[in-house]
Amino acid sequence: MIINGKKIADEIAIELKEKISKYKTKPNLSVILVGNNPASLIYIRMKEKASEKVGIDFNLYHFKEEEKESVILNEIDKLNQDDKVDGILVQMPLPKHISNKKVIERIFPKKDVDGFHPINVGKMLIGDDTGFLPCTPLGIKTLLYKSHIEVESKHVVILGRSNIVGKPLAAILMQKKPHCNATVTVCHSHSKNLKEITRSADILVAAIGKPKFVTKEMVQNGAIVLDVGINYIKQEDGTTKIEGDVDFENVSKIASQITPVPKGVGPMTVASLLQNTFTSFNKKNEK
Ligand code: NDP
Repeated sequence: MIINGKKIADEIAIELKEKISKYKTKPNLSVILVGNNPASLIYIRMKEKASEKVGIDFNLYHFKEEEKESVILNEIDKLNQDDKVDGILVQMPLPKHISNKKVIERIFPKKDVDGFHPINVGKMLIGDDTGFLPCTPLGIKTLLYKSHIEVESKHVVILGRSNIVGKPLAAILMQKKPHCNATVTVCHSHSKNLKEITRSADILVAAIGKPKFVTKEMVQNGAIVLDVGINYIKQEDGTTKIEGDVDFENVSKIASQITPVPKGVGPMTVASLLQNTFTSFNKKNEK
């Protein structure tokens, strides 16, 4: 069975739109982009369209590639102070002369809807629900929940240990909480006997950035496979195609459930960003 992430994300958007329509003011998501990375431009356009659809005001602050770090930090300061702004997101990757760490740490944790600030990361690790969870792992958790896939006591194997996908997903799914309580194994480029480990997974998550890396031989019959990978493949005719980290054609024959690329995890990441922005807005209005 194919898990339709796009459909679930659309349902979340409808629910959010309904909730937002009850307020006199709109949530605001402010996004900083430095340079013109083609993939970043696509992601930003997707986030803008999705925000508009649910009634979130979307402001883009687009700086040139050579912009000084201090200018970006000043812009974050302004957005931090602006009460109309509920969520601040700095689109990654940043040019080399700008420090990711400085930028992320400058955003007020209460407006860090990407969930990358160390305060939010710490809260996630200790299971404190007052912070923001990063969008892709949150999207995966929601996707599992909405697809009625229970992770409790299951062996979840995650390929990839990045700070934005693998590590936070492991931290979330291992929490002593309902719909978590999984046994999690995280693999990376130094892991040995990968095939043995992946074949022991009830739920296998691929987040490494290598097209068709996960083959049928790496998956046990009936496993659930979630493909986070987004790889841009140049075709012979000059067009570009998006491919996941999983050999979908063959793995889908033995997996009990599997997410496609596109229309799998990707739309859930965007849905989570909208949810986090609304959560921030809602907290502000509760005060
Ligand atoms: P990173 O490049 O930051 O991390 C890749 C991870 O994969 C690393 O931990 C790396 O190990 C591991 N890895 C690489 N090669 C191997 C290998 N041969 N065997 C085992 N592990 C390996 O990637 P991201 O986490 O940022 O992204 C992963 C993929 O997910 C990309 O395709 C990205 O585009 C996509 N993505 C999709 C999103 C969505 O919304 N669908 C959101 C974010 C990312 P090591 O740490 O040892 O280097």
